[in-house]
Amino acid sequence: MRGIQKQHLPSKDCPVCHKPFVWRKKWAKDWETVIYCSERCQRQAKQQRRQLNAEENP
Ligand SMILES: [Zn+2]
Repeated sequence: MRGIQKQHLPSKDCPVCHKPFVWRKKWAKDWETVIYCSERCQRQAKQQRRQLNAEENP
């Protein structure tokens, strides 16, 4: 069978949920800028950062 084999796809670890996630077609253009496995994790990371900022600058 031709085409991309799953085990050859690149993967990263999500810093929020600490789970590895594998390259998806929708990330083909910006895989290097993808940090989080999902929008949910991205939102969570943003929220955490906002909380930290609020604590530092009340
Ligand atoms: Zn995640």
